[in-house]
Amino acid sequence: MAGYLSELQRRGYTFFMEIKEIEYAILLKDHEAFDWKKNQYLRSASEKNKSIYTINQNKNLFLDLYHKHELLVTDETKKLKIEYTKKLLHFNSKTCQKCNAKLKLVNDSFYGCPNYKSGDEHSTFSDKPPYYYNNNGKFKSWLPDVISQSGFKKIVRAGDLLDFYELNGLICLSLKHLNSSFRKQINIRSDVKKSSNAFEQESKIKLEKIYDIVKYNPVIKYKYKNEKEKHCELDFIVSNKNDSKVIICECKTSDLDIDNIQEELYINLLTHILQTRGDNREVRFRYIIEK
Ligand SMILES: [Zn+2]
Repeated sequence: MAGYLSELQRRGYTFFMEIKEIEYAILLKDHEAFDWKKNQYLRSASEKNKSIYTINQNKNLFLDLYHKHELLVTDETKKLKIEYTKKLLHFNSKTCQKCNAKLKLVNDSFYGCPNYKSGDEHSTFSDKPPYYYNNNGKFKSWLPDVISQSGFKKIVRAGDLLDFYELNGLICLSLKHLNSSFRKQINIRSDVKKSSNAFEQESKIKLEKIYDIVKYNPVIKYKYKNEKEKHCELDFIVSNKNDSKVIICECKTSDLDIDNIQEELYINLLTHILQTRGDNREVRFRYIIEK
């Protein structure tokens, strides 16, 4: 505990939060890591089956929600437009939207209703026309919103539901109203995964030329006190024989993916693992950024 704390403090970390205590952290052996990864894969396949099954069992609900959601958002947009038109009219005529009184110029850029003391909602305007707010942007998250309305939040997956709608001749609401399909959001995520795998392979070859020991995709099983057991899969742990440090390397497709919480977690875990073994080597962390 004290070891990795001082290690982090040395790196300039400041602690405002309560520090969680690691109960255990274990670096899985190769065959254990393999089994864990296989289970993850099977679990994700069975989650997909469950998601598709749930959609098909609730076809009418999901078809209904599609139309209701579209109506809800477009109705709100209509109301906002009516409200905006009304406001603009009063702005142009410099009259109060509540009592129609002629507004008074309070200073260079501010108009107010003379009856403002007789209750709320009397108009005030600056010299700039009111801003038109269109809420079609809400269609950007229409699939997660529909899933949440359906009550099947962690069961139905967005990609499966979009497949279902398209099979039923319904167009993606984000494509229809914002000209950008939700599928693009899904694809971007899976493309990142694919390209980073290729990048990891490239990095592996380079790292193997520099370091004696290169562990690729090691899995750590760990548990914080009063929390559930978790697993995490790192990209690389590398080291040289007779060196005083061990380095965690994480591949990122851009600077924007840098994740300080992940970095802190990995350093804590590996430091804990080494100290438990009586290994006093220093744990360092490096990003490998795809250029
Ligand atoms: Zn008024």
